[in-house]
Amino acid sequence: MNQATLRDQAQAMRTLPKAEVHVHLEGCFEADTLAAWARQSGTPLPRPPERLFQFDGLADFLQFLDWACGLAATPDRLAELSYQYCGRLAANGGGYADMIVNPTHWHAWHGRLGAMLDAIDAGFTAAEQDGLPPVGLCISLLRTQTAQQAAELVDALIDLRHPRVVALSIDGNEAAAGRTGPRFAEAFRRAGAAGLRRTVHAGESSGPDGVRDAITLLGADRIDHGVRAIDDPSLVALLAERQIALGVCPTSNLVLGVYPSIEAHPVELLRQVVLRQPVEQAGVAATAASAYTRLLSLPAFETVAISIPPYLRWPMMRYPRLGRRRNAALQQKRLVQPAILQTITFLTNAARRRALG
Ligand SMILES: [Zn+2]
Repeated sequence: MNQATLRDQAQAMRTLPKAEVHVHLEGCFEADTLAAWARQSGTPLPRPPERLFQFDGLADFLQFLDWACGLAATPDRLAELSYQYCGRLAANGGGYADMIVNPTHWHAWHGRLGAMLDAIDAGFTAAEQDGLPPVGLCISLLRTQTAQQAAELVDALIDLRHPRVVALSIDGNEAAAGRTGPRFAEAFRRAGAAGLRRTVHAGESSGPDGVRDAITLLGADRIDHGVRAIDDPSLVALLAERQIALGVCPTSNLVLGVYPSIEAHPVELLRQVVLRQPVEQAGVAATAASAYTRLLSLPAFETVAISIPPYLRWPMMRYPRLGRRRNAALQQKRLVQPAILQTITFLTNAARRRALG
């Protein structure tokens, strides 16, 4: 593939209307911003700024995460981080995002969830006022937390009724934590009863049983990853029947060795199953359907494709029943035809690799 075709393809992907639905605020730091914050705080950098994101294994990465989140200790910095993300989202053609935030990582804000949410919200609100895309927050539990801690977080979310919050989430390493679905079932049930949507990390560090627990015990509206569901045909059928969306991140799966190559990755198989219904029957706007057709016609999608249809139900998350101070701008924007930005980035890279190869 020549450079001009690649450029056209990248441009087509940028202009495709998209939503990013599997992104973590803990992963949104920019090196320059961290370097500036560290300078202001008199905190040494762990390594030179140009190598700040080069990690020496998982332990190094987790240590870095603590360090970076620790620097975002003021409302202004959290707002700056949130605002910067919206700028990148818009530059990539994104029209909306669900942002996962796990309060356990943000030590400076422990015990001050309301203030933390207000600070993040200030950045997102300023971004929207400047014409950047709206963002909803998915507040995440960690798999290693206790049932009591989960109950406390859900109590706090119900009490705060923050208009920026659209969902309860759970993330963390299931391979290390073991089976925890039963532990968190009550917290997720109460969150759902209070009007929050529910999104659950499962089926990457856990197998199909983790995905099944996410559906049956946690009432997941969406599953982040979920790819290991492919190991159990009855589970894939259940996902398709209930139209439960998967936030698939092939890049993450390959980096963590869940699959050895994109050719071995089940994203296309999963897409074929959930696409049994014609796109229009899934309640899709015509513009989204044509965008999807365009996607499939791109050469980069010969072997991998993007699972759009289930996500088309997800913008409902932008209208949480929970909010008592409703965010009018968030409710009025109906411009989003969701897809998976991260997958698109991945596909761009895959096309580039193919061209180089
Ligand atoms: Zn994730």
